Amino acid sequence: MADDKRTSQGPAETVKPLSPGDEAAPGTPGVGENVCPDCKGTGRLQDRECPTCGGTGVVEEGVGGA
Ligand SMILES: [Zn+2]
Repeated sequence: MADDKRTSQGPAETVKPLSPGDEAAPGTPGVGENVCPDCKGTGRLQDRECPTCGGTGVVEEGVGGA
């Protein structure tokens, strides 16, 4: 009989540090990740880390609203 040792993974809340371009904290209702408008998702501006998204290439932006 196989012993199932897999532990059920609970909601792993990965806390990501807010970037300057983030409009809200991740996980906030109505907020989703969007491609950073400044670096176009590359996470870099020229040869530097994009300050808007903090080098992640994405920013947290409000969705479902205007
Ligand atoms: Zn960026």
